[in-house]
Amino acid sequence: MQEESERIAMPIVLTIAGTDSGGGAGVMADLKTFAALGVHGCVVVSCLTAQNPARVLEVSPCSPEFVEAQLKAVFTELSPKVVKTGMLYDEKIIQRTASFLKKTSVCLVVDPVMISTSGAKLLREEAIEVMKRELFPLATLVTPNLDELASLLGHPILNELELRSGAKEFYELYKCPVLAKGGHLKGSHLALDILWDGIHEYSYSLPFVRDVSTHGTGCTFSAAITAFLACGFTLSEAVGRAKCYVNEAIRGSVRISRYYALDWFRFKK
Ligand code: PLP
Repeated sequence: MQEESERIAMPIVLTIAGTDSGGGAGVMADLKTFAALGVHGCVVVSCLTAQNPARVLEVSPCSPEFVEAQLKAVFTELSPKVVKTGMLYDEKIIQRTASFLKKTSVCLVVDPVMISTSGAKLLREEAIEVMKRELFPLATLVTPNLDELASLLGHPILNELELRSGAKEFYELYKCPVLAKGGHLKGSHLALDILWDGIHEYSYSLPFVRDVSTHGTGCTFSAAITAFLACGFTLSEAVGRAKCYVNEAIRGSVRISRYYALDWFRFKK
């Protein structure tokens, strides 16, 4: 038996997000990522989804009171260093979450989940303004993909130049650092992401992995950033390491039935 003083301390992180009964996205992807990267993951469930890799069939949101009860349960005994939010779905859940997090000093990564790869609505229309107003100002980083960035800016992003200027425009609008994920830019062999922290621009590009259609990559990316931040890396380092992690997970995708799942455990730290 190890002595108490000999045991290594593990950083604690928290995800506030929806479930995925298919095991590919949401809190399931987050927890696998946290485990693979050596941090202890706590979970506050915002909503349940009946889902498989092909589609989201039903969403059942938790009550805002129950979301708050889970937050209280976590923060009473544990001290997450970094928190990430994923699918929050409804305006009241976002309001409760934001007003709770305001009273803490956590570092917050917001994945502004709006629509799934399969086309399902994961954020109610009425919740979009609340997310912008209440959650973005608390964020250390917001991680929109191309469609989310376009929707949050109110115009399309069609090329690399617009991705770079879109990141700066996002910062000016919402006053928080942003990782603009350009993985789905047309005609590019590279998956390019731009981090703009208000002072510096960082570019990250890796070859786009073709021929595997996985889901949960966005959740996995933001969860990996969360884990690396909790391990003490700077924002730009955490994003770079997280991108390598996701790239490895996609490249190592495994076949499950007629679909693919990320290989969360392939990455060697
Ligand atoms: N389901 C849940 C619960 C999610 O949190 C997300 C993304 O964050 C998705 C589905 C969508 O994942 P994808 O767009 O990769 O299918």
